[in-house]
Amino acid sequence: GLAGQTGWQQAWRSPAPKPRYDILVIGGGGHGLATAYYLAKTHGIRNVAVIEKGWIGGGNTGRNTTVVRSNYFFPESTALYDMALTLYEGLGRALNYNIMLSQRGIVTLAHSEAEMETAARTVNAMQINGTDAELFGVEDVRRVLPLLDMSPAARYPVFGGVWQGRAGVARHDAVAWGYARAADRLGVDIVQSCEVDEFIVEGGRCRGVRTNRGEIRAERVGMVVAGHSSHLAAKAGFRLPVTSYALQACVSEPIKPALDTVVLSPATGVYASQSDKGELVLGGALDRVPSYGQRGNLPVLEEVISGLLEMFPSFRQLRLMRQWAGIVDVTPDSSPILGESPLPGLFLNCGWGTGGFKAIPAGGTLLAHLLATGKHHDVSRPFDLDRFARGRLIDEAAGSGIAH
Ligand code: FAD
Repeated sequence: GLAGQTGWQQAWRSPAPKPRYDILVIGGGGHGLATAYYLAKTHGIRNVAVIEKGWIGGGNTGRNTTVVRSNYFFPESTALYDMALTLYEGLGRALNYNIMLSQRGIVTLAHSEAEMETAARTVNAMQINGTDAELFGVEDVRRVLPLLDMSPAARYPVFGGVWQGRAGVARHDAVAWGYARAADRLGVDIVQSCEVDEFIVEGGRCRGVRTNRGEIRAERVGMVVAGHSSHLAAKAGFRLPVTSYALQACVSEPIKPALDTVVLSPATGVYASQSDKGELVLGGALDRVPSYGQRGNLPVLEEVISGLLEMFPSFRQLRLMRQWAGIVDVTPDSSPILGESPLPGLFLNCGWGTGGFKAIPAGGTLLAHLLATGKHHDVSRPFDLDRFARGRLIDEAAGSGIAH
């Protein structure tokens, strides 16, 4: 379709890395690119580079199922994820890039009386924490999900659910590309095919990195490499409480509009939405064993498809189009890590597990604040690495039952 088109301009430059920057960001996913953008935009620090071992957005940012929401349990989490959702609401305009945000709502189903009690507790917590939430009964669920099997004979009968109307989906590539283009225009260097091999440590501080494209020095370095965080931390000389797992997703062939909200069933672990292209976008739980194998496999696919068909028998006739995986970084309390690492001068943004796409604007804002000022923003303070030593965990697996 593009044959014969000429005169296209590059959306961002492709510069060779300079030997020195004020601030260096490792990892060209959404969080790394957003960090660079906010460093330049909010803090006026423009002598910044993002270095990415592959291509920008080629990690989890371009592999996720694009759900954005802030339906967490603890106030610290709501502050973080609601900051992100609020920023998402104005992001298309801020970046002058259509991120295709569609606030179509998410319903998390409850399949028993006990799950309804937990749902009520979640809704209360969310409302007290200041975000939008509604407790749905059976008729509410039927209204937003007309194709869902609501019969009492269903394997997982539906009792109601938690509704967040401001939640939805956004186009993942557009988020990466929008931040990249806007950061580039503010003077940030985006350097692809540049892999960090080692850290330069002098006088007990991180002073930069050694890459396949030479040495790059900076007084402050942000490490934003998701599933590869523990691997790079080992090179910097410390251990992170992070385990890496593959997380898979798949899409069906495109069909006419049939599902206009996001739906998650904790009983089956399956969640689904329909993309603007018409594909059903499906995901499930983590692979059971830690790995760096960035590919799909049949057992997980079988679990996801059977869970989907328990909910929507009419999707039985669909054909599957693609299956893939990303490597996600999971912490013991299922909350992210933001703050300075044990190596002074090296700052962390990692541990988002299965749910960091929704947090990109906040993760970028908060890491930029840390890198620019050397101090925590009030919202990032509870997520410092020191919470594991102090025992002040923010256990969202227990709190909101998230899948990692
Ligand atoms: P990434 O996008 O992974 O970026 C990190 C980058 O670092 C990569 O590009 C990598 O190449 C680079 N890198 C690594 N090592 C080096 C090195 N040595 N040198 C230089 N660069 C390096 N979240 C949601 O909120 N909603 C969802 O619906 C959702 N669904 C998901 C579905 C799947 C299948 C997966 C895999 C994840 C999903 N997530 C979801 C999670 C979300 O995708 C991630 O939490 C988020 O994208 C993390 O962004 P990031 O920028 O930190 O990481």
